[in-house]
Amino acid sequence: MTKTLAKFEDWPFRVPNFQEVGRKVDEITDLLKAAPDYKTALTIYKKMNKLMDKVMDDCTHIQVLYSLETHNEKYVKANLKMDEEMPSLSVKINDFNKAMLASPFRPELEKKLGSLLFTMYEYSLKAFDERVVEEAQEENRLVSLYSQTTAGFRIKFRGEEYNMSQMGKFLTSSDRETRREASEVYYSYLDTKIDILEDIYDKLVKVRDKMAKKLGYKNYVELGYIKMNRFDYTPEMVRNYREQIHDVVTPISEKLSREQKKLLGVTNLKVYDLSSWFQKGNPVPKGTTEEKVELAQKMYDELSPDTSYFFRFMNEHHLMFLDAKPGKQGGGYMTYFPVHGCPIIFSNFNGTSGDVDVLTHEFGHSFQAYMARKIKVPEYRMPTMESCEIDSMSMEFFAEPYMGLFFDKPDEYRYTHLADAIRFLPYGVTVDEFQHWVYEHPEASPAERDAAWHELEEKYTPYKVKAYKGCHYMETGHRWLTQSHIFASPFYYIDYTLAQVVAFMFFNLDRKNHERAWKKYIKLCKLGGQYPFLTLLKKIGFKSPFEDGVVKKTIKPLVKVLKDYHPENF
Ligand code: ZN
Repeated sequence: MTKTLAKFEDWPFRVPNFQEVGRKVDEITDLLKAAPDYKTALTIYKKMNKLMDKVMDDCTHIQVLYSLETHNEKYVKANLKMDEEMPSLSVKINDFNKAMLASPFRPELEKKLGSLLFTMYEYSLKAFDERVVEEAQEENRLVSLYSQTTAGFRIKFRGEEYNMSQMGKFLTSSDRETRREASEVYYSYLDTKIDILEDIYDKLVKVRDKMAKKLGYKNYVELGYIKMNRFDYTPEMVRNYREQIHDVVTPISEKLSREQKKLLGVTNLKVYDLSSWFQKGNPVPKGTTEEKVELAQKMYDELSPDTSYFFRFMNEHHLMFLDAKPGKQGGGYMTYFPVHGCPIIFSNFNGTSGDVDVLTHEFGHSFQAYMARKIKVPEYRMPTMESCEIDSMSMEFFAEPYMGLFFDKPDEYRYTHLADAIRFLPYGVTVDEFQHWVYEHPEASPAERDAAWHELEEKYTPYKVKAYKGCHYMETGHRWLTQSHIFASPFYYIDYTLAQVVAFMFFNLDRKNHERAWKKYIKLCKLGGQYPFLTLLKKIGFKSPFEDGVVKKTIKPLVKVLKDYHPENF
């Protein structure tokens, strides 16, 4: 992290010359093959890293600018170019990876760089080769089409136009009539988009299935796990874990929905009540975006010297893009620039408590990247996705003691944050099981997919299905169409649930012994991706969520915490 870093808006915009990069990669690969000794091989490996970091930095810049302005011609063009060129470049990168695996100096290289790197190389070869370049290009095109399509959604409500994120404020309004009206407009609008979204997904499923079969897999489930670098767990373990969530958490979330009904004073929960907890409205954070950022600074100043320094750094260098704007991609994310040596935070503030969650969640991701900045092997800077999400989701809970800064009644926030986090688990496994089903049944029709989704909702979240009555879009099994991960990042969702369970472990420990919990957290952040998920957990002394009984043991104390926060005590 250099102090001389320019502000984001002053970074030069560069579209890599992919042909030139490809030639350089070929050159480096040839040099590696001809390396006379270990030392030369290591120098060549470092040279490759430098080149890749530069390309990744430029590409990440394009992606960020594009997601900020999906209608800006310049960025659309650059993004399109990248989508087209990346698969061919990946073939060349794979040739380099192959040469690393075949190097006569591999034993020394493995000793120096760690054997996990070589496992990663093996996975990259299993995940992709020149036979599937066309399919990969098509996949990229479809994913971009999905995000462009949804970013272009304009919903007319009470005389104004909003994007999906901006509608969030009305969908969780304290006024039930506003919620009802907003949800009617919102879901009727989405009703008109079902066909176009289902069509994009249908093509994505087909192209992914084709890719998997060309590479010699039974279906895309196998390939999906390899692409996610799941080194130490299997679909079978995930299935068993989902059942644990079903047995332990589904009943609790049903109970919470009864609690919610009482709190809202309604006889039946409707679709527009599902995200609301209090008659007077969900806890709303104070202040404008700027003021929220100031409060967050205060919080991170108190939490630790590292968080204090780094949040200020991000703010001063304009690395946070927080407000929702027309044409901006939905959702929120953190991404890292290896040459600039810093992350950025992207989000869509909409005035709800979700804004505070961004300042903690996405900052948690950024903080991990910062804490792991000294790791020399680029592949180890960040862990696999489920472990990345531990860093972010745990930060949400480390931030809880400071919620008085943002909310007049912080316990109300803490209650809804925790209740929502618990209720997230059955939803998260629904998304996961759905994707397993989809890729195991690639020939299924859109209607069959919707039915499969609906059935899973009945299994994991029956309270939702009851609430959907009267809402055509939801009743007919279309909730998943706006879950972007299902389109853009197959099988990336169970990760959130695994991380949520581990974040709960941190929360339980933090309530007992803050120092110990924080120390473990810092250790985990610093370890980056030097180990796979389950080994990382072992290193900090936490149990695997896959182990029978662990979900139950982790969730049980939370029910008591919820009671402590319970509004009746307010
Ligand atoms: Zn995250």
